[in-house]
Amino acid sequence: MKILKTVKEVKEEVKSWKEQGLQIGLVPTMGWLHEGHLSLIKNARENNDRVAVSIFVNPMQFGPDEDFDSYPRDLERDAKLCEEAGVDLIFAPQPEEMYPNGFCSYVDMNGLTGGLCGKSRPIHFRGVQTVVNKLFNIVTPDNAYFGEKDTQQLAVIKRMVLDLNMNVKICGCPIIREEDGLAKSSRNSYLSPEERALAPIINKAMTAGKEMIIKGERDSAKVIKAISDIILSVGVTKIDYVSIVDSLTLEPVEKIESDILCACAVYMGTSARLIDNFSLEIKG
Ligand code: AMP
Repeated sequence: MKILKTVKEVKEEVKSWKEQGLQIGLVPTMGWLHEGHLSLIKNARENNDRVAVSIFVNPMQFGPDEDFDSYPRDLERDAKLCEEAGVDLIFAPQPEEMYPNGFCSYVDMNGLTGGLCGKSRPIHFRGVQTVVNKLFNIVTPDNAYFGEKDTQQLAVIKRMVLDLNMNVKICGCPIIREEDGLAKSSRNSYLSPEERALAPIINKAMTAGKEMIIKGERDSAKVIKAISDIILSVGVTKIDYVSIVDSLTLEPVEKIESDILCACAVYMGTSARLIDNFSLEIKG
């Protein structure tokens, strides 16, 4: 496995893969890898000749008051996990390599990014789109793997690839959870033992909301209130949002009449903002 830090080196490596006609899978990450990331890597490994993992805490997708500085980083640890998972190449650039002096181009969109996480993180998706675009141009993958845990991100990337006629297939992978239901996340490492003990309430509340809809509840407000009440009942004080949106447009729906996405973001303590979601097909 190669660990490369420059765009030039990666382009050279990828060129030799292309010359051999090899199929390339890319897994973009911010590192501090866990089983969620590893499930994407496994999927990539099974379906491609070569697997590249990018490890880059992308400053452009963090707001000024967000956790860019404190985000956990450990390339050595991540490299070991990648090696064990059969990764061929890690691309781990420094910010200056991705955004050299004079950098001033962005990729952005008008739809899909205004609600859900985009509301409290207004520049986040522009940063995600820009860096993913750059990674696609550098690695030129045939397939790229993203988790349904960041379901709005997955929708944004799929839309971007469609709108801009990009030659890459976007593969969504299911949410990997801890035994108690908490969605695995690098940010779970911010939780104190007390917060960690409370955190599974997010998935419990979402599961209760899902059950309500499955049993026939069609009023979004009632489901959202039930989910919020359960989360707040354990002493969590700040919910960013609980929303039910159309699964294609990501616009809020009042009545649940077609396929929906229910998503939430919850602050646990002072530093951790955790997200979760479920999708439901609604048969007319
Ligand atoms: P991150 O390093 O948090 O930017 O995540 C990199 C990729 O891993 C993204 O596509 C995430 O959606 C995906 N991912 C993170 N956590 C999970 C999880 N628990 N289950 C599935 N995919 C995940």
